[in-house]
Amino acid sequence: MFMHAPAKLAGARLPSWSLPACWPANGAQPALADLRLSNGRIESIVPHQGAVGGGWQLHGAPVLPGLVEAHTHIDKAFTLSRLGTLKPGLLAAIETMIADRASWTPDDVRERASRCLQWALEAGVVKLRTHCDWWELNQVPLAWGVLRELAADWADRLVVERVSLFALQLFTERADAHRLARTVAASGPGACLGAFVHTTNWNALSLRHLFEAAEEFGLDVDLHCDEELNPQAQGLASTAALLREIGFGGRVVCGHTCALAAQPEAQALATLDAVATVPITMVSLPTTNLLLQDANTGRTPRQRGITLAKEARARGIPLLISTDNVQDAFCRSGSFDPVEALAVGALAGQFEQPFDEWSEAICRGDWLTRSPNAPPLRFGAPADLVIFSAADAHGWPTRAQSRVVLRAGRVLSGAVPARWTEPVEVAS
Ligand SMILES: [Zn+2]
Repeated sequence: MFMHAPAKLAGARLPSWSLPACWPANGAQPALADLRLSNGRIESIVPHQGAVGGGWQLHGAPVLPGLVEAHTHIDKAFTLSRLGTLKPGLLAAIETMIADRASWTPDDVRERASRCLQWALEAGVVKLRTHCDWWELNQVPLAWGVLRELAADWADRLVVERVSLFALQLFTERADAHRLARTVAASGPGACLGAFVHTTNWNALSLRHLFEAAEEFGLDVDLHCDEELNPQAQGLASTAALLREIGFGGRVVCGHTCALAAQPEAQALATLDAVATVPITMVSLPTTNLLLQDANTGRTPRQRGITLAKEARARGIPLLISTDNVQDAFCRSGSFDPVEALAVGALAGQFEQPFDEWSEAICRGDWLTRSPNAPPLRFGAPADLVIFSAADAHGWPTRAQSRVVLRAGRVLSGAVPARWTEPVEVAS
């Protein structure tokens, strides 16, 4: 159904993080690469041999492996058009969504969520994790079942994982925690246990119950953690201490952790030192943090809300960057394109080397798993590639919208520029 890419992609600019230490340099840049594809997989990656004809000549176009969208809310996306006038801030957005949810039907959720998956697919995403609001102890939300069906329907195109987004107070009783975890675990593959952990609902015992229940049912955990600028927030620090105490066997994702940016530096860095010793992956959501943190009507925000991304990366903590909400009460922008989220983060967080260093934060889907040790650009990996046809590595992600997406060596979306296929002068 899709055209095959040629067996050879010549002159690709791969990011430094994906290359072995022995890879040759061209000045301060890594040398270009030639990729050979076979049977939908990467057969070899070698330094560029010069013009030898055949295949595509990429002329230094930046190339990434398939992208990961680590934190989204496809149950809520695309509701903005019917929400009316919105009040600023995170807690007001939560209230607005509760009111809208009363009118959701399976068809409504399926239509909106399918649009999300299509947009992600075209952006080059191979793995998408969505949260799903879950407010009742005794009632599985309508969207949870729809998202499970969609995950199965889309399994040949996208890995879709689902996180049950509970308010932390639902875990106050140990028996309730176990019942919720059992329900989530029974709902099929790709389900994780999640919660909203905030100073407004903080309860250390509830968090303990959550992790005990997750451990019992073999679930990974994904938390909305300290999504606020209140320095009293202790979700991340408590999670790290708890994991060390109980020896949790799964992967834990802590999204947001904005409060680190508001805490005294020594305290925040001590928390990150502890995080680096346990299986926690951090996820930064720069777009919604900029919009929802330090938000007051008629007042320009003073703080950025972004977590301590550089300090986390310096400690070897896996840190992903993702989109979060799209066109709902929380956020009107976003497009399920992790590159767009990274572009926002690169400005808000003053990230140096967006392509060579920080693009790793939108490609390492393995950082959401229990064995995060398999960089995706390697011999034998699927030829799932995103080739940026109008950008260069110096300015990336500027002009990153034009891209050719390969899935298992076939062109899934995007237009192949004529200059890639023009005959080249071969030196004799
Ligand atoms: Zn979120």
